Amino acid sequence: MDCVFCKIAASEIPADILYQDEQVIAFRDINPQAPVHVLIIPRKHIPSVVELSEAESSLVENMVSIANQLAVKEGVSESGYRLVINCGEQGGQLVPHLHLHLLGGRQLAGELG
Ligand code: 5GP
Ligand code: ZN
Repeated sequence: MDCVFCKIAASEIPADILYQDEQVIAFRDINPQAPVHVLIIPRKHIPSVVELSEAESSLVENMVSIANQLAVKEGVSESGYRLVINCGEQGGQLVPHLHLHLLGGRQLAGELG
């Protein structure tokens, strides 16, 4: 499958990986929007949150938990951070493989869109 995040998960293209386990992998965004910008993705190709089944709800819990742990490691848990999942065209999703953005290290804009 021609999916850039599947290729990162399969080590076919390089990424600055901060965390991985059998289900989830986290790496720095190639075009960071903040001093800390990490993407947390499932290894499994799930196109977006719309395609998440009820059975996979624990996956999102794990992704959020890993994001929280990475926020501590990246030194932004005290100053604050933002977790974002874009979904679909108008949601601003460019890569069609579910991912959670962890953004921090600067004052983020108050408006969401
Ligand atoms: P989206 O707009 O889909 O929510 O976010 C996709 C994110 O993936 C963007 O922030 C973009 O910079 C990042 N991205 C796209 N291609 C690559 C890549 O090959 N490597 C890494 N590390 N990040 C990527
Ligand atoms: Zn994929």
